[in-house]
Amino acid sequence: MFLPVVLSEQLVPGSFAFALNLLVDEELDLSALDARFRNEEVGASAYDPRVLLKIVLLGYSRGLVSSRQLERACEHDIQFIAISGDSHPSHAQLAKFVSGLGPQIKALFHQVLLTCDAQGLIGRELFAIDGVKLPANASKERSGTHAELLHRARRLEKAAEKIVSLHQAQDSRTGTPGDEALQARRQQRVDALRREAQRTREFLRTTTPRRNRKGQELKTNITDPDSAKMATSKGVIQGYAAQAAVDARHQVIIAADITGSGSEQAMLLPMVEQARPFADAQTLVTADAGYHSDVNVQALHAQGRPALIADTQMRQRDERFKDHAQHKAQPDPLYDKQATGQGKPSIKHFGPSDFRFDPKARTAICPAGQTLRSSGAIYQVGKGQRREDFKARPEDCQGCALRTQCLRHPERTAARKVSLFHARELDPNDPSQRMRRAIDSPQGRALYSRRIATVEPVFANLRHNKRLSRFTLRGTGKVGAQWQLFCLVHNIEKLAHSGWRR
Ligand code: SF4
Repeated sequence: MFLPVVLSEQLVPGSFAFALNLLVDEELDLSALDARFRNEEVGASAYDPRVLLKIVLLGYSRGLVSSRQLERACEHDIQFIAISGDSHPSHAQLAKFVSGLGPQIKALFHQVLLTCDAQGLIGRELFAIDGVKLPANASKERSGTHAELLHRARRLEKAAEKIVSLHQAQDSRTGTPGDEALQARRQQRVDALRREAQRTREFLRTTTPRRNRKGQELKTNITDPDSAKMATSKGVIQGYAAQAAVDARHQVIIAADITGSGSEQAMLLPMVEQARPFADAQTLVTADAGYHSDVNVQALHAQGRPALIADTQMRQRDERFKDHAQHKAQPDPLYDKQATGQGKPSIKHFGPSDFRFDPKARTAICPAGQTLRSSGAIYQVGKGQRREDFKARPEDCQGCALRTQCLRHPERTAARKVSLFHARELDPNDPSQRMRRAIDSPQGRALYSRRIATVEPVFANLRHNKRLSRFTLRGTGKVGAQWQLFCLVHNIEKLAHSGWRR
């Protein structure tokens, strides 16, 4: 039995697809996209960018990111058929559309925010800035400095040569070349190793080393040089740190960006700047300790922007966290090799807190009860701090039973040295000191505690409901556009659930 299907009735008011359809057809100015997709004189007619945009955003809202999945959905899924007007763009057309969206996506994102604002979804009271590290479409095995990559290329070439000479020796011993299938497999392996070595050498020939502000060389990646190796709670990944500034009222994402660096400090000011059109003079910006630096705090102070940026000592100063260590999750054996006994057992060496310092006598007493003496000099180190060094006598350390726990290299270090840092004299009007006082005050703590509740559910929605587990594109421009597409989906969903034009 065949039932008649009315396509327009498939888009139910209040649903994501309904809001998306209305938004693209009646609200968004897509003239920039239209210009890009003007028909050529020859060849097949181009698909309307509105249709392609609807398909891509509906797909992202359901975790369908690959262009082949989207192509299949346009053939079989009634909502995709309804929203696309039963058109069937190929996976190549969809992939080309997404990878070329980069420059236009920012304007679309801004327009959707204007609609959210008109609907009263942006409160402007508190913005929470945070980041989530996501794997890039690149393997971390292909990362390294130029010297490390050159070493890798040589190793691959050596491995290929070794396979060839091993099998030549084997063949000459037996007098027969062995069966054909085996030979073909060997040759495939050798070719793959040589190709990879050649690719690495080509990359080294055509690129210059990436350097940080201090001139130190950064690791780069052959497949996606803009991505970076970064530590996460699930181990080290090759990825990007996706950034979002979220408004506290309805968790609308106000600004979205990415960085190919594990350090997020440099992203605070750009994110505040991107969020500025939707902030007012009283909007409070909050961010965790990963964004804290004296430079950032002073810049926010100079802008007159109310802000609560945590510093790394904030938890230690807060009496509510004094026994938080006992609630710490146990290491996950899947990622922590030491928990399974496979990794090297790490020795916890004595640190300065294990020594008793006597500033008057200018001595320190070590855990074995021996006295270390100051050299007498006090050195000026960065940020107005002063350092004093204390050294043990070699004869005291020589026969000490605690040597392995005290010295990092007991086989070559004669005596322990420990440094005491004298606290710098603090200016109470310094912006960083004022920030500390603000965040430690009862009102500051209450406001800062809203940060997690504002931003983390957004990441949870994108990562779990929208199945954003990794970026599938490469390069800062395309990965940034993909992140903004996901953020756009999140905001349209907020609009749909708010009853907009229902
Ligand atoms: S190694 Fe030296 S400084 Fe360390 S505990 Fe032993 S005696 Fe003290």
